[in-house]
Amino acid sequence: MQKDVIIIGAGASGLMCALEAANRGRSVLVLDHSPKAARKILVSGGGRCNFSNRIMGPEYFISQNPNFVTSALSRFTPSDFISLLEGHGIEYQEREEGRLFCTGNSSQIVDLLFSECCRAAVGFRLNCAVSGLSNTDGFEVETDQGVFKSHSLVIATGGLSYPQLGAGNFGYLAAKQFGMRVTKLLPALTPVRFSAEDAPVFAGLSGVSINCTVSTGATSFTGNLLFTHTGVSGPAILQISSYWDRQSSLSVDLLPELDIYSLLIEKRRSKILLSTILDQHLPKRFVKLWCDLQGAPKPLNQYSTEEIASIARSLHDWPLRAEGAEGFNKAEVTLGGVDTVDLSSRTMESKKAPGLYFVGEVIDVTGRLGGYNLHWAWASGHAAGQFA
Ligand SMILES: Cc1cc2nc3c(=O)[nH]c(=O)nc-3n(C[C@H](O)[C@H](O)[C@H](O)COP(=O)(O)OP(=O)(O)OC[C@H]3O[C@@H](n4cnc5c(N)ncnc54)[C@H](O)[C@@H]3O)c2cc1C
Repeated sequence: MQKDVIIIGAGASGLMCALEAANRGRSVLVLDHSPKAARKILVSGGGRCNFSNRIMGPEYFISQNPNFVTSALSRFTPSDFISLLEGHGIEYQEREEGRLFCTGNSSQIVDLLFSECCRAAVGFRLNCAVSGLSNTDGFEVETDQGVFKSHSLVIATGGLSYPQLGAGNFGYLAAKQFGMRVTKLLPALTPVRFSAEDAPVFAGLSGVSINCTVSTGATSFTGNLLFTHTGVSGPAILQISSYWDRQSSLSVDLLPELDIYSLLIEKRRSKILLSTILDQHLPKRFVKLWCDLQGAPKPLNQYSTEEIASIARSLHDWPLRAEGAEGFNKAEVTLGGVDTVDLSSRTMESKKAPGLYFVGEVIDVTGRLGGYNLHWAWASGHAAGQFA
């Protein structure tokens, strides 16, 4: 079968690319080894798909080339995706920090993409295992459903995270096959594990959450930290995991909106217990453990100024002794990917193999939590679809 464009990967970026290319009149075939397409869209945003973010810019993405995203983002904005939703009567809502979610559920977005692709006559082959690629006179894709040929080939196979949803290393191998480089791959937006020493100490806090600021080096995020059986998760931790080198320490300001030193000094003549004051600002279960670790809490009038300063320091700069981050099974995305030096930022086309394109998470572009990864999938898929 001969097509203008073959896209490997029926996820967010592949479907957007298919739609854009087919709307230009190109004949398009999308292949996916999974029995069901767009499975990550379906589970995204807790089933409500955090599909984009009103606040958009290169600073919300990590890449060895921070400007790589600029062209694609400027040509496909959050408003462009919202127009698509509105055209299909899909309701959405804006939450904190500009995060855009479906009011209904994620399947509405998958249905939208499919109906638009079908209207534009995009062909699909699901459950289709690709066994080889070659490029002599155009591209040849060998699969267990036959050999497909095309002028352009788009790799939209995503990252390594959530192999249970069809992720694998196909895209990186394809890049290497065509002489392109791949940067170091790491799990990102992932929970963090306590050291073997601290895990049993904090295991009893599983389920407790604290609004805090987590920092590594000069990078910090404020948001929820959630204790789990093995470590910590929650938005602040997921965000910092993408920037953490796994060796440096992580510091947590447990009371980012309170000057606890001044508060304790103000009350230092009182007989009120330290734990009673802390209970007003932090979850009781955490305070109990924290106080136990510091020594039994005393009435405030029994602490010296130095002791109060030390208590304040350890609440504003609590060292999280993390052993590492969870792996790709629990990571929302992959940090790193196909090196952007080998790609055109305007078209996503390979500089090593004309006609070969890479889109979405397989590229060395990782968004922050908050709809940025799906937006990158839409924007890069759209950019390639204009040229493939
Ligand atoms: C649990 C979870 C929740 C998330 N929530 C959000 C969110 O709310 N907002 C957000 O912005 N991002 C979210 N993300 C990240 C986001 O889903 C991804 O970044 C995005 O889907 C990447 O799009 P993609 O098209 O590059 O890859 P994918 O959507 O992963 O699609 C890749 C496709 O390629 C197929 N494929 C892989 N290998 C092969 C092969 N060898 N042959 C054929 N087909 C293959 C896969 O089956 C898959 O269908 C979430 C991720 C996870 C895991």
